Amino acid sequence: MTARRCARVQRGTFVGWLMGKKGFRPSEETRRKMSETRRGRKRGPHSEETKQKIAAALRGKKGYVRTEEHREAARERMVAKWNEEDYRAHMLEAFRSEEYRKKQSLGSTGRPQSPEQRQKIAQKTKESWTAERRAKMAEKRKGIHSRTIDPDGYVMLSGYGGHPLALNGRVREHRLVLWEKLGSAGAACEWCGAPLAWKSAGKDELVVDHLNFDKQDNRDENLVPSCRGCNTAREKT
Ligand SMILES: [Zn+2]
Repeated sequence: MTARRCARVQRGTFVGWLMGKKGFRPSEETRRKMSETRRGRKRGPHSEETKQKIAAALRGKKGYVRTEEHREAARERMVAKWNEEDYRAHMLEAFRSEEYRKKQSLGSTGRPQSPEQRQKIAQKTKESWTAERRAKMAEKRKGIHSRTIDPDGYVMLSGYGGHPLALNGRVREHRLVLWEKLGSAGAACEWCGAPLAWKSAGKDELVVDHLNFDKQDNRDENLVPSCRGCNTAREKT
């Protein structure tokens, strides 16, 4: 990783070429020297002029901008590496070490961010989660279930990609429990008897009522089907 990054910075130099070679790893001594050379040298934020120079130098250079294939190849390499038992054991041990934690915290404290920068990053992250990416992630996480409490206080399960009640692989536990009890056809409202389908025009028609009003008590005997009207009326009492 480090070697690759250096190669980018030193593009066009012999050292840059050498560092970019696959499998090349400088000796301990060289690494020590390199880190001494860098010590105290300010790395970014670059001035406007420097930024423009860098942008101009990189313009049109495909090697720098990572394509989706690059990313995929890197991902595959990482997965393969992670599947090596020795490596995984070593890393899991390292993650727990005090030293690693210290480095991690230094890594983030070393880059102070203004509120604007933070907001910009948050915005970018938010935008990066397109519907397509969410669907892809849901497909990937199929069968890997996690149980969280959603902002409304309900139990949310993930890993149900493809389930008729799921959105991006996520489904509220009480709905899934009642679905398994009643089946896909729907049922009549427990209170007024109106026939209800699970979904109607993309919206939930059948609502699941918690008899004891405990949103997280999802035992099937605590759950009954209800129409929206009766559900709302019950919440008010
Ligand atoms: Zn009703």
